[in-house]
Amino acid sequence: MFKKILIANRGEIALRIIRACKEMGIRTVAAHSTADTESLAVRFADQAVCIGPGEAQKSYLKIPSLISAAEVTNCDAIHPGYGFLSENAGFAEVCGECNITFIGPSPESIRLMGNKSVARETAVKAGVPVVPGSDGPLEKEADAQKFAAEIGYPVILKASAGGGGRGMRIVHEESELLDSLKIVQAEAGAAFGDKSIYMEKYVTNPRHVEIQILGDKHGNIVHLYERDCSIQRRHQKLIEEAPSTILTEKLREKMTAAALGLAHHIKYYSAGTFEFLVDDKGHFYFMEMNTRVQVEHPVTEMITDVDIIKEQIMVAAGHPLSFAQKDVNMYGHSIECRVNAEDPEKFTPSAGTIKELHMPGGPGVRIDSAVYQGYKIPPYYDSMIAKVIVHAPTRMDAIHRMRRALGEFHVEGVKTTIPLLTRIMHSEEFVSGKVSTRFIEEFLKNVPPKQ
Ligand code: ADP
Repeated sequence: MFKKILIANRGEIALRIIRACKEMGIRTVAAHSTADTESLAVRFADQAVCIGPGEAQKSYLKIPSLISAAEVTNCDAIHPGYGFLSENAGFAEVCGECNITFIGPSPESIRLMGNKSVARETAVKAGVPVVPGSDGPLEKEADAQKFAAEIGYPVILKASAGGGGRGMRIVHEESELLDSLKIVQAEAGAAFGDKSIYMEKYVTNPRHVEIQILGDKHGNIVHLYERDCSIQRRHQKLIEEAPSTILTEKLREKMTAAALGLAHHIKYYSAGTFEFLVDDKGHFYFMEMNTRVQVEHPVTEMITDVDIIKEQIMVAAGHPLSFAQKDVNMYGHSIECRVNAEDPEKFTPSAGTIKELHMPGGPGVRIDSAVYQGYKIPPYYDSMIAKVIVHAPTRMDAIHRMRRALGEFHVEGVKTTIPLLTRIMHSEEFVSGKVSTRFIEEFLKNVPPKQ
């Protein structure tokens, strides 16, 4: 087993990894920027190394600094968390060359699945259904026009290298196509350094349902059921739950089998997530794979009792998975709410100091957070300050528990998404379970923000 792990990340996920390592008797090093000197990760890790200034480009994304930090502190592995370098095949490769284990899949898997358009082609080869779309990137404007006419509007243009809800644009009719193409290309070039774009049919009112899998280096792969992440704003997830209210046992079997098939096809190991869209007729389509741990992994941990981070560490060290598929059961219902420091109606970031803080507790409530009273939210990173996760026997019990937990959550000094999350938890639409990825858009239209 590893003796010491460098955590190449920050915030709640850095803390989550430190917690797993502590329980496994592994020492930790927090690699941090100057903006995170006062962070809980720095406080709770066994050691800390400053790797650069606040801007992620100069710290959390700087490969040589991270490798040096791991070398000077004698770390034998690096956990990349999510975001930053977690899906950077080059980083995984450099780790290997320096004899440091990258806690994640092989660089080949990252490369294959990191490009959305290549991932799509791979899914097709493995017999997994995908949304009708262009085979490979669109080269010419005329191809785009021809293709859109073939599959029918609305269509969605996607940057092959996109992620995090960025680099996407819905096109409703032909007159908007060429302008949209230019906009997405320019955005993709600027944000991801790769201008290539592909096109998909835009599925109206779909559900976002994803399958969590875990694989080891001995060819064993298991699934940990699904998560429903349909409650999004601007293509970014806000509320996640497991199980999904729309999966029948039959559909669950089909989707988990598709995910396992694709995972075996690419000889995948470590934690990974296959994202699907499900339409109202119960058809499902592969969208993309995330080759890392997800923000919303706790809902799966709550319903299965599997510690995804510990398994990731174990399999990276070459151990087989600690359980087989037949040992995984699903218990009760879990919901996660992302508490972001932002104006809840306008979704604009709200940086500043947390003057007062009380976080919920009690039965069935888990908080994954790295903030504390007096904490100054740095302006450089994303706005999530906490994840509230509940677990209860039924979905309705979980909703009651989440309402109670959000009611106990008290933050002063910055605006948060708590009022919006609370309203959603009390809304008939959410309670009925009839949601789609357009939920928030519709919800805010029907229930205008309070003045
Ligand atoms: P990212 O990698 O940026 O998260 P995804 O490809 O996972 O992007 O898509 C994010 C969200 O965008 C989905 O959950 C869904 O809400 C919406 N979306 C993506 N593709 C389609 C599509 N073909 N039809 C309808 N909605 C889509």
